[in-house]
Amino acid sequence: MRILVSNDDGYFSPGIALLAERLGALGTVTVVAPERDRSGASNSLTLDRPLTVRLAANGFRYVNGTPTDCVHLALTGLVDPLPDLVVAGINFGANMGDDTIYSGTVAAATEGYLFGISSVAVSLASKAGRHLETAAAIAVGLVERYTRFPITAPLLLNVNVPDIPLSEVGGIEATRLGRRHKAEPVVQMRTPRGETAYWIGAAGDAQDAGPGTDFHAVGAGRVSVTPLQVDLSLHQQLPLLREWLAK
Ligand code: MN
Repeated sequence: MRILVSNDDGYFSPGIALLAERLGALGTVTVVAPERDRSGASNSLTLDRPLTVRLAANGFRYVNGTPTDCVHLALTGLVDPLPDLVVAGINFGANMGDDTIYSGTVAAATEGYLFGISSVAVSLASKAGRHLETAAAIAVGLVERYTRFPITAPLLLNVNVPDIPLSEVGGIEATRLGRRHKAEPVVQMRTPRGETAYWIGAAGDAQDAGPGTDFHAVGAGRVSVTPLQVDLSLHQQLPLLREWLAK
């Protein structure tokens, strides 16, 4: 099996190093990742300038672009033959609920999925990152499962792992995305030149976090696995919209 590994924290992140090392036991791993932290980059492609790909001493390739750029380049000429699977992570910090819209980790996996390749985004649900090993073991377990029980339709899985020892993980749960409260207020500050600058505030706390959600599973010490789709159409609103447009 060929596995393309990427992330949004940058090619130097301990999360991607551990993920690539552990997945190396299951197949041939190629790493293409951003040259710096691009967390929150979402599904952005760099179209206003060319991109460069450089080779790090450890064999990782790094790109002066976004996570989406990395996977896009890999799948459109950089990596031959194409991978069977794309795995993004291990991200420092959860990507649950509304986070998935902004996440570069999820975006890297989404790009693989858009190319018809099953893709998995793996996040450790804490910025402290004490138990990276837990997330790596879960990622390996899911990829092993995928090889033992292949699924014909491409999958896009968003995986969030509680930051606890593997022995304390209470199972793996299929979940839906929860929702967050609106974000914290923007932080205002003065620059040395007397201008007002704004720093985007933290994400809000979980709001829709009941049983069945990603927040609930991780809060209870379980791994959350959410199947995602790219179709943003709100199908059940189409009849209402047609009616409104016919008025
Ligand atoms: Mn990140």
